[in-house]
Amino acid sequence: MNIILFGPPGAGKGTQAKHIVKKYNYFQLSTGDLLRDEITKKTELSEKISKLIDQGEFVTDEIVEDLIIKIINNENYKNRIIFDGYPRNISQVKKLEKILENANQKIDKILYLDVSKDNILKRISGRILCQKCNEILNEFTNKEDLINHKCGTEYFKKRADDNDKTIVKRYDTYMEVTKPVLDYYKSNPNFIKIDGTLKIDEISGKIEEILNV
Ligand SMILES: [Zn+2]
Repeated sequence: MNIILFGPPGAGKGTQAKHIVKKYNYFQLSTGDLLRDEITKKTELSEKISKLIDQGEFVTDEIVEDLIIKIINNENYKNRIIFDGYPRNISQVKKLEKILENANQKIDKILYLDVSKDNILKRISGRILCQKCNEILNEFTNKEDLINHKCGTEYFKKRADDNDKTIVKRYDTYMEVTKPVLDYYKSNPNFIKIDGTLKIDEISGKIEEILNV
């Protein structure tokens, strides 16, 4: 089963992808990793990529596609690929469909870890620092941890920081960029939305249910 895993920053996409890789022996296809891997290989292509990056240019879609084609046509990964952060736009969606079709494969499931902006804001505003042990807790997402905290509650302090704006901005950018792709896949019968605000192992459980079919 080939899977696309989507989710805004803060939905725990990376954690879930790693879990699937480990439990089901999947290959996690992230274009950033593919490029980094290729650069270490010292091939003709890797020189081209290094040059583009050194010049501060974007690596072209064609280069990324070539790398993806290699992975998809690798028998070791057949029907065991989890696409992480790709496709990012409709042109890449179409390209990926074509590449998979040529390799007699398809996307079997599209999983979307859903986290609302409201929830992101709640997580930020709920953050509490224990000034004794420096652990960061959250009064909205981990109430039990708060009550059972080893230092007691007397050292707790509300914690807002400069990162908050960055987190919100990253979320907004992700939603903006990904919206056309999400809209495209939403009508696909294999599109499954998962509540990204659940606990990590609850999300893993849901994903396992889907993959075990
Ligand atoms: Zn503490």
